[in-house]
Amino acid sequence: MSDDEAVEEYLFKIVIIGDSAVGKSNLLSRYARNEFNAHSKATIGVEFQTQSVEIDGKEVKAQIWDTAGQERFRAVTSAYYRGAFGALLVYDISRRATFDNVARWLDELNSHSDTTVARMLVGNKCDLENIREVTLEEGKSLAEAEGLFFIETSALDSTNVRTAFEIVIREIYNNVS
Ligand code: GDP
Ligand code: MG
Repeated sequence: MSDDEAVEEYLFKIVIIGDSAVGKSNLLSRYARNEFNAHSKATIGVEFQTQSVEIDGKEVKAQIWDTAGQERFRAVTSAYYRGAFGALLVYDISRRATFDNVARWLDELNSHSDTTVARMLVGNKCDLENIREVTLEEGKSLAEAEGLFFIETSALDSTNVRTAFEIVIREIYNNVS
């Protein structure tokens, strides 16, 4: 192994997108800090969090970006998407409108990035089974039709949160290595 390879480092930008209040900020805080906030306000100040994952004995850093609530105004800027290698496209399984808007988010993501972006469709709030409006099968078939990974998560009870991020990180690593 050459010296170059020995010091090889990976830093991947990942963006989280989707309608307001689907749980984007809580997915990130659950993953990065194991925190959940029932009354979370729009993110102020913090643009991204960095998490390290070990893959094939190498340290891989994911710089995960959260919106500052600007998705409310349909004004997520191109700077937000710039340089992203991965994306989590989040909807809320208890609100069908957020699932119907996935196509719009996907268009926006695709128009701001090249085709090698690792994309994961995330049906969040799967703890709300009793008021579910979008079935698991609907999520799966949309993901299949659009060529996305798919998972259901709960930032509240932690179901699949780590897995969702790490599948994307691993896929990016596979794409670039
Ligand atoms: P964002 O606008 O997409 O960043 O959404 P937030 O992370 O701010 O969450 C919006 C609301 O949904 C907050 O009241 C959260 O407590 C709640 N929430 C987020 N994730 C979950 C979840 O997995 N389950 C449930 N039941 N509530 C959640
Ligand atoms: Mg937020």
